[in-house]
Amino acid sequence: MSELTTKCLIIGSGPAGYTAGIYTSRAGLEPIMVEGEQPGGQLITTTEVENFPGYIDGVQGPQLMEDLRAQAVKYGLNILSGIVTDIDLSTRPYTATVNGSAMTVKADTVIICTGASARYLGLEDEDRYRGMGVSACATCDGFFFRNRNVAVVGGGDTACEEALYLANLASKVFMIVRKDHLRASKVMQQRVFENPKITVLFNTVTKGLFGKELLEGAHVETTTPDGHADLYDIEIEGFFLAIGHKPNTEIFQGKVELDEAGYIKVAAPSTATNVPGVFAAGDVADPDYQQAISAAGTGCRAALDAEKFIMFNS
Ligand SMILES: Cc1cc2nc3c(=O)[nH]c(=O)nc-3n(C[C@H](O)[C@H](O)[C@H](O)COP(=O)(O)OP(=O)(O)OC[C@H]3O[C@@H](n4cnc5c(N)ncnc54)[C@H](O)[C@@H]3O)c2cc1C
Repeated sequence: MSELTTKCLIIGSGPAGYTAGIYTSRAGLEPIMVEGEQPGGQLITTTEVENFPGYIDGVQGPQLMEDLRAQAVKYGLNILSGIVTDIDLSTRPYTATVNGSAMTVKADTVIICTGASARYLGLEDEDRYRGMGVSACATCDGFFFRNRNVAVVGGGDTACEEALYLANLASKVFMIVRKDHLRASKVMQQRVFENPKITVLFNTVTKGLFGKELLEGAHVETTTPDGHADLYDIEIEGFFLAIGHKPNTEIFQGKVELDEAGYIKVAAPSTATNVPGVFAAGDVADPDYQQAISAAGTGCRAALDAEKFIMFNS
C-alpha cells in the first residue's frame, strides 16, 4: 500500500474543493485532493449556469468545473482519483484511506467538501427529463421557466419557499403534496395559500412524467377523502423536487460532529469542525444556501483557516 503525506487533504472536487485547492496551493501547503466518484461535483450534471459571477453569458456546468480544476492544477494542486473510504481523525496527522486500501494519505489538516445530493422520488422519468424540465433547485433553474407552468414536489418549508420563488417567475405553480396538509411553518403556509398563482394539490403523488424531448406534463394521482384515486395529467414544463438533500457524510459519522440531518457542524463564521485542523466547506456544511458561489466562498475560507491552523500548530 502506498502512502502520501501533505499539509492539507481536500476531500471532494466540487466548487468548494477546487477553490480550497486554488488557495491552499497558492499558500504553499502542497495540497492533495481526492476527487471522489463525481469529479467536478454536482454541476457536471447540469447545462447552463447563469448565476456564477464572471461569466456574462452564462457557462455550461461541466465547463465551469473544468475551468476551476485547471486553475487549481495550474497552482500545483495534486488530484488523486478515487474516493475516501475511511478516515482516522483520532490523532494528527490524520489518515485517510483512498479506494478501499490502495493508498493512504497522511494530512496535517483536512478540508471536507463532499457536498450533498438532492433527493429524488425515484421515478424512471426523473432521469429522462433531468435538465429538460426536472430540477432540484428553483434558484438555479427557475429563471428558465418564466411565464410557464411548473410544479413543486414537497410540503415543507423548502417546498413552500421554492413555490413562492417560482410564483414570481412562472405563470402557474402546482404544489404536489403527498399528505393532506403542509409541514411548513404557519407563516409559509399562509403565504402559499394567499398567492393566487399557487395551487396546492393535497393527497397527491406523481405517477410519471411525459413530453417529447422536453417535459410537457406529469401524471398525478389524487386520493379523495372517500378513498377514491383520481388519475389525471397536469401540463407543466418544470418539475422541481423540494423533498430535501442528503449530505455526503457517511464516512464522518462518529468522527466529526454532525447536526440531526447529517450536515457537518462548523463554528461559523469559520469553517472549523469540532476536530482541530479539520474544516468543512460547501453544501456538506450548509443546508441553507447550497449554491456554487457560496460553496466556493466557504472553500476559500476553509483554505485560509487551514493555513492559519498550520501556522500556529507546527
Ligand atoms: C442539477 C443541478 C443544477 C444546479 N445548478 C446550479 C446553478 O445554476 N447555480 C448554482 O450556483 N448552483 C447550482 N447547483 C447547486 C451546486 O451544484 C452546488 O451548490 C455545488 O455544486 C456545491 O458544491 P460543493 O463543492 O459543496 O459540492 P459538490 O458539487 O456536491 O461536490 C462534492 C464532491 O465531493 C465528492 N465526494 C463525495 N464523497 C466523497 C468521498 N467519500 N471521497 C472523495 N470525494 C467525495 C464528489 O465526488 C464531488 O466531487 C445545481 C445543482 C444541481 C444538482
